Amino acid sequence: MSAYLPDAARYDAMAYRRCGRSGLKLPAVSLGLWHNFGGIDRLDNARRLVRCAFDQGITHLDLANNYGPPPGSAEETLGALLRDDLRALRDELIISTKAGYTMGPGPYGDWGSRKYLFSSLDQSLRRLGLDYVDIFYHHRPDPHTPLQETMAALDAIVRSGRALYVGLSNYLPEQTRQAAAILRQLGTPCVIHQPRYNMLERKIEQGLLQTLDQEGIGCIVFSPLAQGVLTDRYLGSGIPQDSRAARGAFLRPEQLTPQRMQLVRALNEVAQSRGQSLAQMAVAWVLRQPGVTSVLIGASRESQILEAVAASRSAPLADHELRQIDAVLASAGDLAPKAG
Ligand code: NDP
Repeated sequence: MSAYLPDAARYDAMAYRRCGRSGLKLPAVSLGLWHNFGGIDRLDNARRLVRCAFDQGITHLDLANNYGPPPGSAEETLGALLRDDLRALRDELIISTKAGYTMGPGPYGDWGSRKYLFSSLDQSLRRLGLDYVDIFYHHRPDPHTPLQETMAALDAIVRSGRALYVGLSNYLPEQTRQAAAILRQLGTPCVIHQPRYNMLERKIEQGLLQTLDQEGIGCIVFSPLAQGVLTDRYLGSGIPQDSRAARGAFLRPEQLTPQRMQLVRALNEVAQSRGQSLAQMAVAWVLRQPGVTSVLIGASRESQILEAVAASRSAPLADHELRQIDAVLASAGDLAPKAG
């Protein structure tokens, strides 16, 4: 392993966008470590991906307690990279983690109790080898724990120095509004929300984006490429052996129906007519939303990171191109949730 010397020009071309009404700026493209950073994955590839991202000005790396597999191992991987490569660069990085999904056995390894959030974050910090994370999220709403308890835990976590900012993920608009009000009252404003958003999944256009705008909360959107469906990955014959769908855990081959692939082919034609790959148009499409602070991509190889970064600098989609995309999505009927 050679010593890492980051690219001196790393801040020259990346756009940094303000996260809601906070002082925090995030890169237009952020990198998520959900896949390809687990204990089952190659550390040298993980290292290449993180180095490539940082060299491109991607200052934000996103994790959760359960990313792996096995759960927790993505944080261990980043911990190793922080130790070897990035130690001197900690103050240039925004590292986030989350708790809210199943992490451990028993009643204290899941959901949203104060007990779980504190113990989970302490475990995350140990795996990462860090004193604090920049953003700590509650990963999903908990229907059984009082919202007041979960939000008070987030506030206490910030006051304890374990996190600088807090965020919410997968909360619906009304839940977000209520949580934001509690956090504001406690004195720890919610700075960021992390929902899913891509051309095939547009629910956030039906209220959440408006709520975030009103509340002054930033928005970082996950799975902008629908886990690789909105790329040319599956346009050839068969499922590539090295693809996410071939692993079959979160994207299953049966989700790639002929109907869905017909839609993807039609979107690919729109992308080609504007001289871009479909992956690039998918990134540009998400970034067209003024309410989106950052697009949170995943990558299995460096070229995918470079493609997304180039897309973030590409010409904005013109009105006629947006209309073409809407027409393609509308032609797919209930496959494409309505905009509005
Ligand atoms: P994407 O939609 O960006 O999918 C990434 C995958 O698409 C890659 O791993 C790769 O898969 C494929 N891909 C990427 N670029 C290209 C390209 N140019 N050409 C062809 N294929 C490409 O995002 P993810 O679903 O990975 O989610 C991103 C991040 O969002 C996660 O890492 C995590 O941090 C966060 N997240 C948060 C959730 C939450 O509940 N808060 C839930 C899910 C994700 P392949 O292996 O096939 O190469």
